[in-house]
Amino acid sequence: MDFVIPRPPLASLAVAGDSRRFPVHRIYCIGRNYAEHAREMGAVPERGQPVFFLKPTDSVVDLPGTVAYPPGTCDLHHEVELVVALHGGGRDIDAGDALALVWGYGIGLDLTRRDLQGAAKAKGLPWDTGKSFEQAAPCGPLHPVAAVGHPAAGAITLEVAGAPRQRGDLADMLFPVAEVIAHLSRLFTLAPGDLVFTGTPAGVGPLRRGDRFRAAIDGLGEVEGEMA
Ligand code: MN
Repeated sequence: MDFVIPRPPLASLAVAGDSRRFPVHRIYCIGRNYAEHAREMGAVPERGQPVFFLKPTDSVVDLPGTVAYPPGTCDLHHEVELVVALHGGGRDIDAGDALALVWGYGIGLDLTRRDLQGAAKAKGLPWDTGKSFEQAAPCGPLHPVAAVGHPAAGAITLEVAGAPRQRGDLADMLFPVAEVIAHLSRLFTLAPGDLVFTGTPAGVGPLRRGDRFRAAIDGLGEVEGEMA
């Protein structure tokens, strides 16, 4: 197929133990999926309709590595999250069938311009400028289900400059992975290449230029990065 301008690059992520990469189609995120984090953000944790938002596909960036500090913020926050990578898709998926669509899992950061998100929330405006920007979705290598299974319990943590910041347990998700996929599939047609950021535990806080961070999830190892 011919295009009128050069074709933009395909966004992708590294795969653990494989020279091939995972092509990224869409990036879905769920908000307030751990009760303690919902409370620290001033919200009441609840299992009603989940809060979803998206990030641009090209906001992925490989970890370990350097992440560009974004413009327009004085309060960039880390949110460590279990990332789900899909190799199947569809609509109206039952939770009982959802895990069959999962290709693998990774450790990601839902980077957030908290000052912009807070200002938008206060005015009832969309979160896009707070959540969507270049390199807003750093992610470590994806691990296939064949190697790691479906992590459903275990620690999820983040350190900045060697000091503990975030800590939670995957078992404390208000909506487990299968339910997140089922809910998303009632709003969107899921497709191979989709990523789902599954929410962050309590302890979110600022990242500054030059900060080194280390994120870890039981069963997936750990990844490091540095803010440029
Ligand atoms: Mn998040």
